[in-house]
Amino acid sequence: MKKLLKKHFGYDDFRSIQEEVITQFVNGRDVVVVMPTGGGKSLCFQLPALMRDGTMIVISPLISLMKDQVDALRANGIAATMINSSIAPEEIDIRMRDAQKGKFKLIYIAPERLANARVRNWLEQINVNALAVDEAHCISQWGHDFRPDYRNLKLFREKFPQIPIIALTASATQHVRDDIVRELNLHDPEIFVSGFYRNNLHLRVVPKSGATDTIMRLIKKHAGESVIVYCFSRKETEELARILVAEGVSAGSYHAGMSVEDRHNTQDAFVRDEINVVVATIAFGMGIDKPDVRLVIHKTFSKTIEGYYQEIGRAGRDGLTSECVLLFSAGDKMKLDYFLNDIADDEHRAREEKKIREMMDYAQSRVCRWQWITAYFGQAGLPACETCDVCMSAHDTEDATEIVQKILSAVVRTGNVFGKGHIVKVLRGSQDKSVLARGHEKLSVWGIAKEYSTATLMEYFAHIVARGFVVRNSGEFETYRISAKGIVFLTQHEKIQLPKVKEIDTHVTRRDHALSYDADVFNALRALRRHIADEQNVPAFVIFGDVALREMSHYLPTTPHEFAKISGVGSQKLQKYGDIFTARIKELKGE
Ligand code: ADP
Ligand code: MG
Ligand code: ZN
Repeated sequence: MKKLLKKHFGYDDFRSIQEEVITQFVNGRDVVVVMPTGGGKSLCFQLPALMRDGTMIVISPLISLMKDQVDALRANGIAATMINSSIAPEEIDIRMRDAQKGKFKLIYIAPERLANARVRNWLEQINVNALAVDEAHCISQWGHDFRPDYRNLKLFREKFPQIPIIALTASATQHVRDDIVRELNLHDPEIFVSGFYRNNLHLRVVPKSGATDTIMRLIKKHAGESVIVYCFSRKETEELARILVAEGVSAGSYHAGMSVEDRHNTQDAFVRDEINVVVATIAFGMGIDKPDVRLVIHKTFSKTIEGYYQEIGRAGRDGLTSECVLLFSAGDKMKLDYFLNDIADDEHRAREEKKIREMMDYAQSRVCRWQWITAYFGQAGLPACETCDVCMSAHDTEDATEIVQKILSAVVRTGNVFGKGHIVKVLRGSQDKSVLARGHEKLSVWGIAKEYSTATLMEYFAHIVARGFVVRNSGEFETYRISAKGIVFLTQHEKIQLPKVKEIDTHVTRRDHALSYDADVFNALRALRRHIADEQNVPAFVIFGDVALREMSHYLPTTPHEFAKISGVGSQKLQKYGDIFTARIKELKGE
C-alpha cells in the first residue's frame, strides 16, 4: 500500500487513521470516517479505488469540490471524471459511454443525478466496485448542511447490495453519525474517529479594539499568502474589503447577498491565487478545499464552537503552520442577540444562547485553546499544545507593575466611572472627542502609556479585571471602579508578574516542517508553479502543494532520482514536471 501511495500520490507515509481505514475498506467492510477538515479523508477512498478492478462512484455535494478533486487526480495520472450540471449534455453522454467501457477508476456524481432513472440504469451497466460518500453529514438533518438529494443514496444499497460503502465527514456529533449509518443502510460498519487536535493550527484570541489595524498587521505578516477574514454581516464584509483594497491588499468579498456569479468569481480568484484575501460571511468556505490558507481571522466570534472549529479548519489543510486569530469583544454578543430574538421557539432559543455562551467562554478562558476545544468535543486529556496564545504566555511572564499602576491610576483619575475603551484612549493620549469633551487630556495620566497599542492595553485591562483590581459598576454599561484590592496594590507598592502581552507578532517565523529553505528559491518555484497552472487552467495547488515546494527549496533536487523523493511527487508528476523543475533549480543554484 505504501508503494501505491508514493507512486500515485507521491507521499511517503499515511496520516493518522488512513491506513487502517483503507485496509478495512479494501477488505469489503462498510466504513464511516470521522476526521477533521484537512485530515486527509479523500485519500481514504481514492487509494482503494486504485486497488480494485472496476470503478468507484463518489458522491460529493458541490461542483467546485468535485472539480478540484478530479483535477488533482488527473494531475496524478489517475483516470477520474465527474458528472454534474456544469457539464454539457453531449459531454455527459460521452463520459457515460466511456464509463461503460471501463475507462475510469473514479466517477464523481452529484447526488441529484441519482434521482434520474437513466443514470440509475447506466450505473447497472458499469462495473461499480464501491461507493464513497464525501461530506456525508449532508444526509442528516442534524448536520449543518442538510441536502435532501443525499437521501437518494438509499437507492444505492438496494441496487448494489454487495458493494462496500465508505462515508466520510468532519462532523462530530453522534446524531449525525447515526443518521449516516441508517440512511445509507450500512452493514455493521466500522467507525473510525480521528482526534480533533490539529497541531499545525496556532490559535489566538486578541481583544477586538483596533480591529482594522490588527487585521492589516496580520495580513501584512502573511503577505502573498491566502487569508480568510470572517465578518458578521454582509455590510461589514464589503466595508472591510474596501479598506483592504485601498491599502493595496488584493482582496475580495463574499456573502450570501451577492449574485451566484459574483460569489463564484471571488471563490475562483481565491482558489487560483489571483486574490489573496477573502473577506466573507460564514457562507464562504464550504465549497473549497484550498490546502494553503495560512491565516483565518474572525472579526466576530462564531455562534457555536462547532462552527468556529469548522471555519478555522479551512486553514492549513496541507499540514503547514497556519494561524487562526479570533478578535474578541464581549459586546459582539449584542449582534448575536438580534439573531436570537428571531427564534420563536423558547427551547430552541435557549439552546442557541447556550452555544453562544460556550463560544464566549472559550474566548475568555485561560486554558490551552486546543485542550478546551478537544475537551468540548469529548476528547479529554490532550496535553497542552504549546503553540496557542495561552500556552505561549504561560511560560513567559514579566514584571507588569508599572503598567498596572498606570492603568489603575487612570481609572481613579477619570473618576471610577468609565469603560475600558475610554481609559485606554486616555492612557494612549488620544485626542478623541470623547476625551477632549471631558477635559481628560489635561489629566496627569493622559498619554502615559503611548508606547502600547490599544490591543495590548486592553489585554492588560483584562488581567486587571481577572485579578480583581477593578470591579464593574452596576448599570447598563460596562464601566469600572478600583477595588479595595486595587487600592492596596497601589498604596502598598506591590509588585505584579503577568503573562507577557505580545504585540501582534509581525515578523515571519517558519518553524514548521523543520526545514529551512531559501525564500527566493521558494518564490521562484512558486512562480513556475503558477505559470504551469495557468497554462493548464487549474489551481496552482493541483500542480504541487506548498509542502512540495518547500522541500524542493530545501533539498534543491537536480536529478530525476532526487526529485522523486520530494513529498507530493508521484510517478506522473515526476514524468511531467521533473525536467522543468530540476532545470529551474539548477539555474537557481547557478549550475
Ligand atoms: P479532508 O477531505 O479530510 O478535509 P483532504 O483529503 O482534502 O482532507 O486532504 C488535505 C490535504 O492533505 C491535501 O492537500 C492532501 O493532499 C494532503 N494529504 C492527505 N493525505 C496525506 C498523506 N498521507 N501525506 C501527505 N499529505 C497528505
Ligand atoms: Mg474532503
Ligand atoms: Zn495551547
